[in-house]
Amino acid sequence: MYLVLLGPPGAGKGTQAQVVSKELNLVHVSSGDIFRENLKNMTELGKVAQGYMERGELVPDEVTIAMIRDRLSRPDCAQGALLDGFPRTPAQAEELDRMLAELGDRVVLVPYISVPSQILVERLSGRWTCRAQGHIYHQMYNPPKQAGVCDLDGSELYQREDDKPETVKRRIEVYLEQTSPLIEYYRGKGLLVELDGTQPIEDVTETLLVEIRKVM
Ligand code: ADP
Ligand code: ADP
Repeated sequence: MYLVLLGPPGAGKGTQAQVVSKELNLVHVSSGDIFRENLKNMTELGKVAQGYMERGELVPDEVTIAMIRDRLSRPDCAQGALLDGFPRTPAQAEELDRMLAELGDRVVLVPYISVPSQILVERLSGRWTCRAQGHIYHQMYNPPKQAGVCDLDGSELYQREDDKPETVKRRIEVYLEQTSPLIEYYRGKGLLVELDGTQPIEDVTETLLVEIRKVM
């Protein structure tokens, strides 16, 4: 069962994916996490991705698609996955369809977490991310028990370089230009279900679980 979480930067895709993947025992594949891991380890992929990520631009399709192809071919994804942050362009979406068709599979649902742009800057400026595993917090909306420390693994929380307001503005533009056409792409396939991402985190989770269980 392959699901695609869609929504602008800051919509809550990662937050929801972390909870829902555990609850449903689905592998969480976050393209952003994979890029950040490669950056941390200064791999060839990390070096290619770095400049794009710092500027808030998309890493080129060719590179991103090869990375996801590799990830989805691992045994833990054989039964499906919850994709967070991929696809982000029509070319990536078409390639994903081809990739899954080769495996005799397909995307079964695309929850689209919708949040108006004005809210996104505040969401991302207040985001704190865990160094060890990328667990996500917000200083107001989902604070850790102890400031600066991850509740789940005790590692340090940091603010992502690309969460500064200037870069966030660019990321939102890039989303509107390159990613938002996927809303119509998946609506046309009858796979889209729109969720109100301005609701509290737990409420979004509840709705999301209801929608996913309908297709399980
Ligand atoms: P995305 O993966 O879509 O970029 P995140 O899951 O990282 O989004 O969430 C962005 C920020 O907004 C984080 O700081 C997170 O804690 C916070 N957040 C997520 N969902 C909500 C929500 N429903 N209400 C308020 N804040 C939220
Ligand atoms: P967000 O929390 O805003 O949704 P991500 O962590 O998903 O951000 O992505 C961080 C950065 O990684 C993006 O700004 C982009 O540079 C790169 N990236 C992640 N996923 C993709 C993708 N599918 N295609 C191209 N670039 C990507």
